[in-house]
Amino acid sequence: MKILIADDDQISRMITKAAVEQSGHECIVAVDGDSAWQLYKEHSPEAVVTDLMMPGLNGLDLCRAIRAAEEDSYTYVILVTSHGSRKDVLAGMEAGADDYVTKPLDPFSLHIRLLAAHRITSLHADLARYRSALTEQARTDPLTKLHNRLKLAEDLGTLDRDYCLAMVDVDNFKSYNDIYGHQAGDAALIAIASTLAGEVRKSDGVYRFGGEEFLLVLRDQQADDARMVMERVRSAVQDLRIEHSGDPDGVLTISAGISAFTDGHRAGTEQLLREADLALYAAKASGRNRVSLAGSRGSE
Ligand code: GH3
Ligand code: MG
Ligand code: MG
Repeated sequence: MKILIADDDQISRMITKAAVEQSGHECIVAVDGDSAWQLYKEHSPEAVVTDLMMPGLNGLDLCRAIRAAEEDSYTYVILVTSHGSRKDVLAGMEAGADDYVTKPLDPFSLHIRLLAAHRITSLHADLARYRSALTEQARTDPLTKLHNRLKLAEDLGTLDRDYCLAMVDVDNFKSYNDIYGHQAGDAALIAIASTLAGEVRKSDGVYRFGGEEFLLVLRDQQADDARMVMERVRSAVQDLRIEHSGDPDGVLTISAGISAFTDGHRAGTEQLLREADLALYAAKASGRNRVSLAGSRGSE
């Protein structure tokens, strides 16, 4: 582990440092509470062994500062008290310390506490990894691996500059399933999803909106540029040449409806989603395999 030692007394510092190193850990040494806090922020140590009484920030302040700053990580804090008074120990534990040792420091006593520290901080690191994996999983569509509506809702809330929404729907997909089977349908959705993602910029968002519907968030884009992008996307899907005998084009195609959040039209996201959906409906009504812009007549 990386361990931060804080003690204003030079001899105590050396004794603690020797004990920590003897236990096989890496040491960072601070000569008072304030510099300990700076070093803590700089190095994110797994454990802190701190003196209680120090000028400036004392051991209790340091504990509280660490507990307040922690997000996903956990720092194991061991207090070093001069006489192990119950009052000091209680105050330390209440301030967030995990354990304490008394001066004069017994290296063995510190060693066994660091074993516990390692176990606890490893558990916390595991938890943080699981939490982040679950967070990602809850926002990912298992079939296409695209982000899902939960992530979309979060991302829509962060948009402030100009952007366009493109609602995409696979054409005649029900009959594709009927003719080729549900498994082939799934494979087609995967292929289309990866084509959508491949045709837009990294900064754009591609989400599975529902069954065979996708939503694209095209950042920093005006309606006309978005239409060009979506034309390219539409044609890329057609160029996959996924045979579909039930479609007039003979292959799977998509239709798209675009709405824009730009100067003169600062509508809310719900409204923009509705507009994109209406434009999609217009694209479908005028023959499918086409892109339509909200507010314009028919397909483009
Ligand atoms: P339109 O051109 O008007 O969009 O016609 P459509 O047949 O595509 O529209 P409809 O909404 O009638 O059918 C959508 C179909 O998509 C029905 C549903 O079974 C299928 N679907 C939705 N999700 C999935 C999925 O995850 N896998 C597969 N294989 N099919 C799906
Ligand atoms: Mg649909
Ligand atoms: Mg469809």
